[in-house]
Amino acid sequence: MSIDLIDAAQGAMLGTLVGDALGMPAEGLSRETLKERFGRLDSLREGSLPSGEFTDDTEMTVGLCEALVDRGEFDLQAVARSMAHNFTPWRNYSPHVYGIMARIRQGMSWESPGTSSWGSGAACRVAPIGVLYADDTEVADHAAAQAKITHDHANGVAGAVAQAVAVAQVTVAGLFESTVVKEDLLERVTRAAGDHSVAMADALKRIQDLRPQPSSERLSEAIARMYPCDGSAVGTVPAALAAFLLSGSFEEAVITSVNCGGDTDTQGAMTGALAGAFYGARAIPERLTASLANEGRGRDHVVRLGEALGALTRKRSGNRLELDEL
Ligand SMILES: [Mg+2]
Repeated sequence: MSIDLIDAAQGAMLGTLVGDALGMPAEGLSRETLKERFGRLDSLREGSLPSGEFTDDTEMTVGLCEALVDRGEFDLQAVARSMAHNFTPWRNYSPHVYGIMARIRQGMSWESPGTSSWGSGAACRVAPIGVLYADDTEVADHAAAQAKITHDHANGVAGAVAQAVAVAQVTVAGLFESTVVKEDLLERVTRAAGDHSVAMADALKRIQDLRPQPSSERLSEAIARMYPCDGSAVGTVPAALAAFLLSGSFEEAVITSVNCGGDTDTQGAMTGALAGAFYGARAIPERLTASLANEGRGRDHVVRLGEALGALTRKRSGNRLELDEL
């Protein structure tokens, strides 16, 4: 059964939340320590936050998506304001992003943050741009523009571009009920990221060297051997994409991704966005969504926001994406 745009957009949003909440308890743990503490991390567990809670990755994704839905298109100032408006200090923001959000809330400009960050914070929130501009070359430009609010190092920007272009590609692939052609996707993603960073392009190319594995556990091992999964964009964005490309379902993809260890919540959020956009929200098992945090901007809000993003994407594309299917 093919999915429609609403299901794809809801999948990208809810998938981000699920992957983030799944990875949250193991953030910063090596793969070995994660294994000792949790065995296989395959259900929502308590960590630095209560079980089912989400972190900065989902909160920023929600802020970005709210700005898109509110304005009907990408508006950089609206995105910065919306993310800062939503900012909750205890949701495990990196000190760097924490400082920027706090400054924007105080009315200061974000346009000269004064520090250069190559982390994956601009990539982990970018999925709604990938959905809204799924069939549009503007996707890379908007992804790069929003990155600069917090991550102005070339690798941080390239990570956001790679993740947005990948989400765009898999959204279209999911609508057409086709499989993702790994080589085509990697070629497009690598080319777009390479406009900003050769290091990111090289890291993405190495996904081709990863072979399918007999189990999700072995796949986590193989990915963690190839990439540091350390929160740098170069170390995390390709790993998240690899977990999606080499898995056969939403559940397998996010569980593979978080069990690589390292920046588990961010990597889970990015893999969740990709797998959610491709397989659709209806393919996300209830056992991973039933006890997600649901107050304020939690689960139900995320699902409604996904619906609004899907409707906006449908309107923006003039039904082109879905009509092409016929
Ligand atoms: Mg986080």
